[in-house]
Amino acid sequence: MAKITFENGKWKVPDNPTILYTDGDGIGPEIMDVTRKVVDAAVKKAYKNKKIEWKEILVGDKALKEKNDRFPEESQEAIKQYRVLLKSPLGTPIGTGFKSINVRIRVMLDLYSNIRPVSFMKGLESPLKHPENVNLTIFRENTDDLYTGIEYKYDSKEAAEIRKFFKDKLHVEISDDSGIGIKPMSKYKTQRITRAAAKFAIENNKKKITIMHKGNVMKYTEGAFREWAYETLKNEFGNYTSTDDSSKILVNDMIADNMFQQIITRPENYEVILAPNIDGDYISDAAGALIGNIGTLGGANVGDDAGMFEAVHGTAPKYAGQNVADPLGLIRGAQLMIKYLNWHEAFDVIEKAIGEAIETKKVTKDLAKFFDVPAMGTKEFGDSLVKII
Ligand code: NAD
Repeated sequence: MAKITFENGKWKVPDNPTILYTDGDGIGPEIMDVTRKVVDAAVKKAYKNKKIEWKEILVGDKALKEKNDRFPEESQEAIKQYRVLLKSPLGTPIGTGFKSINVRIRVMLDLYSNIRPVSFMKGLESPLKHPENVNLTIFRENTDDLYTGIEYKYDSKEAAEIRKFFKDKLHVEISDDSGIGIKPMSKYKTQRITRAAAKFAIENNKKKITIMHKGNVMKYTEGAFREWAYETLKNEFGNYTSTDDSSKILVNDMIADNMFQQIITRPENYEVILAPNIDGDYISDAAGALIGNIGTLGGANVGDDAGMFEAVHGTAPKYAGQNVADPLGLIRGAQLMIKYLNWHEAFDVIEKAIGEAIETKKVTKDLAKFFDVPAMGTKEFGDSLVKII
């Protein structure tokens, strides 16, 4: 078994890297099975000497059943050791105080960039007149902001103490029936997500980076995010980026509410969107809707020395075990992983196969309804992709 290692943020990938996978919950096992087959076929087609050594770890329902624990110690250890994971969606029980395993993995590996590419695939039904203009990548900060979960219920001792502190020390009155949430936003965390977005823009020949924020209202958090992002781009990437020189990557910023209008009315103006955690969360789903189907989007969570790749959607429990789910979201997630492996030929093989499947209308139920054709099962769709490859 050969591990992927990391040096100064660069991935060092052996020809037979061990990559962890977890089947997840709901439709997870079905889409994972198909995804691994498609990836293996593409790698085999693209290279004589490369092959992924998949290593399963138990997480979620399967782990609960076999180990009586949703996130067993040995799975956590394997994640810390191998550091690269393809993950099917995991269900989060609501209202039980159970902390999301997705969030725990992000924290464990310090996966600070959440990357979501959104581009239109010919054939899908979009609410836009010209969906072919949508080709953007969102860089969402993944570790800061309100997602840090520092929150206190309105009637808790902590909330009362915080309200008292504000009243006594800062002369700010907060009503007794208010819950309290804290929104930390750090310079260090803003700088590192900005660097990730800038490197991506440079390496992928993008022409524009837009900083999304609500800094007009939240001056010292989102406003600071804007300032720090501009500063980092100017100081560290000044040879490549500029606010007014169109021979370089143009940098601008936009208030969050306007951003929602703009990606609907003028999606062609956006290529890389750099956003704090909460804004990035919202805009990702909105951008997903522009291309007609969130079931076909993949996402990456990447840090300096680790990565977790997944579908954007959840466990779709109503479709579990019925062989109807669309595996494209997870396949897209796996493609992002393949980019980090630097196996671009395998990426292209999958891209071409997906294009052909859509063009010939060989698709699963969610897309078949757009084309008015009979739907293929999850497994059969996977087999047909492998056949095309
Ligand atoms: P969901 O994405 O699972 O489902 C929303 C709807 O989208 C479904 O009803 C289904 O019609 C459709 N859909 C989603 N994926 C599809 C696919 N591959 N093929 C066909 N149709 C698909 O969102 P939800 O219902 O809000 O969440 C269900 C569970 O998933 C929750 O427990 C939630 O916490 C979890 N979740 C996990 C992740 C993750 O692991 N990254 C992400 C989102 C939600």
